[in-house]
Amino acid sequence: MLGERTNLFKMVTGMVRTLIAGNWKMNGLKSSLEEAKKTTQMLQDFPDKADCLICPPSTLVVPMKEMAGDRLHVGAQSCHPEASGAFTGDLSAEILADAGASYVIVGHSERRSEHGERSAYVQEQAHACLRAGITPIICVGESYAQRQRGETKDTVVRILRKSVPTLAESETLVVAYEPLWAIGTGLVPSNEEIATVHGVIRELLIELYQDRGREIRILYGGSMKPGNAAEILAIENVNGGLIGGASLKADDFMAIYATAVA
Ligand code: PEP
Repeated sequence: MLGERTNLFKMVTGMVRTLIAGNWKMNGLKSSLEEAKKTTQMLQDFPDKADCLICPPSTLVVPMKEMAGDRLHVGAQSCHPEASGAFTGDLSAEILADAGASYVIVGHSERRSEHGERSAYVQEQAHACLRAGITPIICVGESYAQRQRGETKDTVVRILRKSVPTLAESETLVVAYEPLWAIGTGLVPSNEEIATVHGVIRELLIELYQDRGREIRILYGGSMKPGNAAEILAIENVNGGLIGGASLKADDFMAIYATAVA
């Protein structure tokens, strides 16, 4: 019923609901749950006009979900493509869904570089998420060298084509454009560059998923902060943010959320 109302709202307004997503990476002890608790409390002060998500280390998914309430979504940072089996140390999408995760980040550049996860594997992870009823957040981005060679658009399209699921309901898929050189560096592309790349991603999504491609959320990620969030979120085809460092403190994270619902 709620889903039908949301769809009707989108059809009438053409709006895509903004997603403000925090990626805690390998940061977070039990004591960090205080920040998530503060986030849930602060969320109550804002209109419910954008989705809010934290992807903590997997050990915190269960306790965070238990205290998250209905405004804070909880996600994970990677998953194994198989549902279960002899894969020591890995977590399947089914296990993460069972723990309370409703989103999983796949293809983050740190997974691609540190763990050799290539696009074909990322696509398998995305399929696993959909199988488990989880929304994959598929990350793509160019290196600094590729940018310098003028290969940004081609790189993003090539990687994304290979990483997205072959079949997807638009509401169960999110793409994050994260220039590798902008992650954790304080550097950010110009608004024009972001608009160009997000426009290219939108075109590809429409080519792949027809009209449903218009509703797939495209997040920007890379040194998003309270000070630059408003102007980035105002760019066409930017439907939210994937935020690393600035998501660790509730005050910073909520200052970004505030710009999304202003
Ligand atoms: C990220 O790692 O996804 C990210 C965007 O990090 P930061 O915001 O710290 O640049």
